[in-house]
Amino acid sequence: LGTDPGLNPSQLTLVAREKLREKYTAAQVGVTGANFIIADTGAIALTENEGNGRLSCAWPKTHIVVVGIEKVIPSLTDLSLFWPLLSTYGTGQRVTSYNSIISGPRQEGESDGPEEMYVILLDNGRTNILANPKSRESLYCIRCGACLNACPVYKNIGGHAYETTYSGPIGSVITPHLKKMNDWKHLSYASSLCGNCTEVCAVKINLHELLLENRHEAVEEGAAAMTERVAWKFWKTAMMSRRLMNTGSGKMKSWAVSNFVKDWSRHRADLQFPAKSFNQQWKERNNKRP
Ligand code: SF4
Repeated sequence: LGTDPGLNPSQLTLVAREKLREKYTAAQVGVTGANFIIADTGAIALTENEGNGRLSCAWPKTHIVVVGIEKVIPSLTDLSLFWPLLSTYGTGQRVTSYNSIISGPRQEGESDGPEEMYVILLDNGRTNILANPKSRESLYCIRCGACLNACPVYKNIGGHAYETTYSGPIGSVITPHLKKMNDWKHLSYASSLCGNCTEVCAVKINLHELLLENRHEAVEEGAAAMTERVAWKFWKTAMMSRRLMNTGSGKMKSWAVSNFVKDWSRHRADLQFPAKSFNQQWKERNNKRP
């Protein structure tokens, strides 16, 4: 925008306001999402802190709303719960600055609003989630973002690293179902399953359990690569045999993992196995005791 780099946040906001205002007043079409679709009145509810959503539907001739089908709530009175829930968990406010209920285009005698309004209801894989008895509860999400802010993975890698529309724990839960399990299952593995997301979720979605469920479904669907399956089989065999666990020195095990499991070690520090297995150390320590 060619602004002076020395401007402070308030001054930058004023520049953005001035430049964007022109665009809103000149636009023929405004596109918004919706935070809720209200079934009993046939309206949409928009929640925001900037006012851009309201400008997008007030000025242009045509207002297009693109919204997921899971956003339907039964009645207008339910907003008395959902609006404060969304703002408290999202930004810590009791209520956001702008809350609009839009029930259609401008009517005769009204001074603002679009001449036409279209609501596009998006499925895009949401009915797949609805059909899944375990993952279904993820459709309760109101996109408050609390689980993102609580997630140690998200806090370290940021939203862009997910390369998806929905990032953070809820993104990792729903993306493999909205797209393809085979292509997006890795998101469900990028978690320590600490459960912080579940703890803070505004609508009590069991997020970390659903991440685990995705891993289970990925294996059931045969989405794991052959090398991964062989590696786990080998690991299981070794873990169930005391003799195999005690075979070879720590050095040899470290070398074998670093060289044969390259996909594991490419992005991680080398594994350093102790010189002796736990079992060998335990035996030695206890044999020394009187
Ligand atoms: S999963 Fe829960 S915490 Fe995360 S965005 Fe949705 S409602 Fe908010």
